[in-house]
Amino acid sequence: MIIVQKFGGTSLSDDCSRQHVLRHIRRERAEGHRLVVVVSAMGRRGEPYATDTLLDWIADNGNSLPDREKDLLLSCGELISAATLCSLLNREGIPAVALTGGQAGIRTDARFGSARIVGVNGARLLEYLEEGKIVIVAGFQGMTETGEITTLGRGGSDTSATALGAALQAGIVDIYTDVDGILTADPRMVSEARPLPMVSYEEICNMAYNGAKVIHPRAVEIAMRAAVPVRVRSTFSEGTGTLVTRADSVRRQSGWTDRPVTGLAHVKGVTQLAVATEEGPSDVQLRVFRAMATNGISVDFINVTPAGVLYTVIDQDAGEALKLLGGMGLAVRSRSGCAKVSVIGGGMNGEPGIMARIVEALTAAGIPILQSADSNTTIWVLVSEEDMVPALQALHAAFGLHLVPS
Ligand code: ADP
Ligand code: MG
Repeated sequence: MIIVQKFGGTSLSDDCSRQHVLRHIRRERAEGHRLVVVVSAMGRRGEPYATDTLLDWIADNGNSLPDREKDLLLSCGELISAATLCSLLNREGIPAVALTGGQAGIRTDARFGSARIVGVNGARLLEYLEEGKIVIVAGFQGMTETGEITTLGRGGSDTSATALGAALQAGIVDIYTDVDGILTADPRMVSEARPLPMVSYEEICNMAYNGAKVIHPRAVEIAMRAAVPVRVRSTFSEGTGTLVTRADSVRRQSGWTDRPVTGLAHVKGVTQLAVATEEGPSDVQLRVFRAMATNGISVDFINVTPAGVLYTVIDQDAGEALKLLGGMGLAVRSRSGCAKVSVIGGGMNGEPGIMARIVEALTAAGIPILQSADSNTTIWVLVSEEDMVPALQALHAAFGLHLVPS
């Protein structure tokens, strides 16, 4: 079977971690699988070829690089990783070839910096696989119809991996990273967070959209549409990590069947805006949201009542939002430094009492809820940023997430 393996920045950052990468490649190859290996840029901000280091370099040089050339520069980090891995494999006598995203057949639109994949032509990859080669692909990048190099935005290598997996109808896409899988919460916030053996595409998509950075939501959507299973697992262990698959398989196979809550996610740096309106019919609500939309400010946590409009924007957009609202002559109250905490579970639909348990847990911890909202699969609460970690910890305990069986 064809396996797509994706290795993130920390998995490639030094010689020791690259030895772990080689171990996973050798193991799957020994099993007789054909491998496509997608790589990110090596390391994190500060390390020479990391994407954030390249971005800092651009900023330090006056941000004078046009978008097209910026993508040319940003695409280099992954090329260095791909060439490095190719040389390591060749040194071991394992035949390998390294390709740019474009050479691997990844076609994108021309939105430099956040291009979307519009198609994948897997013909060249399949030829190399037929020849018995390991195909290494630079992640996070593609090429337009006219041959321009583009990058895919944050988490783009995850998207490269699942898009290739979908095009090649891979048996599995393995996302190797620096944690043991998808955890019940970000381990940097909740030390008791536990790896989940299995989650549905929808659940991880929800977690990812609500801030869990472990995999990019667009990558999950592509895998879901193509029905390709994904595994998120650690580069540094032999654990099998978290299997991401269809909700019905999760229900059938998961030992942990009756879970209303799967995990928690968080987003910091949110500003709450409260716009007061006169009683009675008016078009203020409409004008507020139209002003935000036409100025490209995305809004969240929307709450419309006869007395006013309450919503959130990211801190970076708050200044502009306030200026627009002020210009419309509206009375606005703003509160910056808020955090959105999300409680996510495919099984919470129709389950009574989840909200009550959330309120109970946060009240017991002395944490005020500034706003809340809910859907079939997620309950969101807005809290002050300094309450975020205690809120995550209180909710993690309240839903028994530290008891998830591995
Ligand atoms: P990579 O470079 O391998 O792509 P990322 O930093 O993008 O790695 O993603 C892995 C990180 O995601 C982890 O180190 C962890 O801190 C963070 N993370 C956030 N939420 C979760 C979660 N629910 N489960 C696992 N990791 C999470
Ligand atoms: Mg990542």
